[in-house]
Amino acid sequence: MSLNRVLIFLGPPGAGKGTQAKLVAQRFQVPHLSTGDMLRDAVGRGTELGRQAKPIMERGDLVSDDIVLGMVEERLSQPDAARGFIFDGFPRTLPQAERLDTILNRRGFANPLVIEFRVNPDVLLRRVTGRWTCSVGGETYNVFERAPKVPGVCDHDGGKLVQRADDRPEVVKERLAAFERQTRPLEEYYRKKGTLEVVDGTAGIQDVSRALAEIIKRAEGRDGHL
Ligand SMILES: [Zn+2]
Repeated sequence: MSLNRVLIFLGPPGAGKGTQAKLVAQRFQVPHLSTGDMLRDAVGRGTELGRQAKPIMERGDLVSDDIVLGMVEERLSQPDAARGFIFDGFPRTLPQAERLDTILNRRGFANPLVIEFRVNPDVLLRRVTGRWTCSVGGETYNVFERAPKVPGVCDHDGGKLVQRADDRPEVVKERLAAFERQTRPLEEYYRKKGTLEVVDGTAGIQDVSRALAEIIKRAEGRDGHL
């Protein structure tokens, strides 16, 4: 099975985009590109763009379009992106979307298929702020839905559970507000282009996955490959 197209997963943090992006990436053997991962990787490796991004990310702010698009363009020039890829949480702003279109056109990709994950903000807040991760094995828990047997301790290996700085309530609220302010206009932009599809982000993983498969199949019948 081949994807041969660009997918964009749009939606606030915690809407389930990352989980679904991983599944689709596996199914089609294409890269799953999250700007979060690209940024953390750049920060970890101490690249020029990473050094610029670090203090901004620590404040919970969004990094500049120049930094993000620089990283995106670098990533898309790698050979594994040629058969399609999935953007998870990118673009975030209208100018990013417009500049991404320019990059994609230049590289010969057709219009991306955009999927919006719609979720109620209260559900989101619980999902994200309840998330704790094992510092040893990386297992994730949700204190509201899948709590560990002993608070703060991993069931599996006894590791200490930590909350990512990004998942603290004050940071999450700020990111949700930033999403509303900056990303909402993208809906309209992609809807006008006729490439916007919507899934219910509060549905179960299997249901969302099935809905996505249908959307991809339908798009295939409509537009063919790239
Ligand atoms: Zn663990």
